[in-house]
Amino acid sequence: MASNDWMNKDFYKILGVKKDASAEDIKKAYRKLARANHPDSNPNNAQAEERFKAVSEAHAVLSSPDKRKEYDEQRSMFGGGFAGRGGGVGFPAGGTAGGNFDISDLLGGFFGGGGGTATRTRTAPARRGADLETEASISFEQAVDGVTVSLRMTSDEPCPSCSGTGARAGTVPKVCPNCEGSGMQTGASGGLFAMTEPCTICRGRGLVVEDPCPTCHGSGRASSARTMQVRIPAGVKDGQRIRLKSKGAKGENGGPSGDLFVLVHVAPHTMFGRKGDHLTITVPITFDEAALGAEISVPTLHGLPVKLKVPAGTPNGRTFRARGKGAPRHDGVKADLLVTVEIFVPSKLSPAARAALEAFRAARGESDPRTDLSAARS
Ligand SMILES: [Zn+2]
Ligand SMILES: [Zn+2]
Repeated sequence: MASNDWMNKDFYKILGVKKDASAEDIKKAYRKLARANHPDSNPNNAQAEERFKAVSEAHAVLSSPDKRKEYDEQRSMFGGGFAGRGGGVGFPAGGTAGGNFDISDLLGGFFGGGGGTATRTRTAPARRGADLETEASISFEQAVDGVTVSLRMTSDEPCPSCSGTGARAGTVPKVCPNCEGSGMQTGASGGLFAMTEPCTICRGRGLVVEDPCPTCHGSGRASSARTMQVRIPAGVKDGQRIRLKSKGAKGENGGPSGDLFVLVHVAPHTMFGRKGDHLTITVPITFDEAALGAEISVPTLHGLPVKLKVPAGTPNGRTFRARGKGAPRHDGVKADLLVTVEIFVPSKLSPAARAALEAFRAARGESDPRTDLSAARS
């Protein structure tokens, strides 16, 4: 509820009670006026409908100790008669300018869709839409580069047939007989403090539906399916949950949309991996390439292979950095490709290769890579 509008309205006057009226007095006055002006007893009576709404709004504020306190403070601060915008509202409101507010926290937005003269306006309580969660499976390349995916979302929204009231078109939800529309009831427990809790009959709505909307069976909710295009940013990791602001369920009465969370599954790549922003690849080289040095060709994720110079005496498992040969990061800078070499040992040897290796063994002489180990043991 937009507090700024409160100071333009004298809720005590609307209910015809004194400023220091007790909660019981307020309740009684409200009950009497709500009954007298209820749209059911006054069909096609716009004035009664306005009064009904004014009374309900006044009651919604004054029946809540917190809201009443806030209202009283505001009124005393700005002066009761202050009427900056929209004109002051006395009772009866009568016209449309002053009575043009909404109490859909109490009436669930009925007057917005029910064909009455009142319209849903800026003062309707805004409700944030729900957060939604879904999953998306993308390829390795898509994860690296970012991708726009189509997601089919089903979400819970106000039923279009009844505008969320739950009542059959052309009928009105009744003011809840249990809580008289306040949506709150006093708890059954005794003791020092009587606790108020949401009304168990109307579940806090203040209204009950007697003739349910056939579309939503009275729930006032509908599930709607929509397909939306969602941008998954570059650099997303497998199992990461990304948050897309305002892509969740729509808010009610102009409230903000919720967020959408997408759990991303990234298919592994047969060749490439990721390390931070960088791409990784493991490339086999032969013993002689490692020992003698070589220039090898390394594939990249995008574009042509790059040449990598393996210096003579390269140990197994050494990682080389091919600068800028990774993927572009979100800031546009190209990350690196980290190339790890792995000595490849052939399982079969040609006679010539075997002879060459035996000659190598003979030539190697006494150089033993395990001298340190035997020294440690003795
Ligand atoms: Zn109730
Ligand atoms: Zn419905």
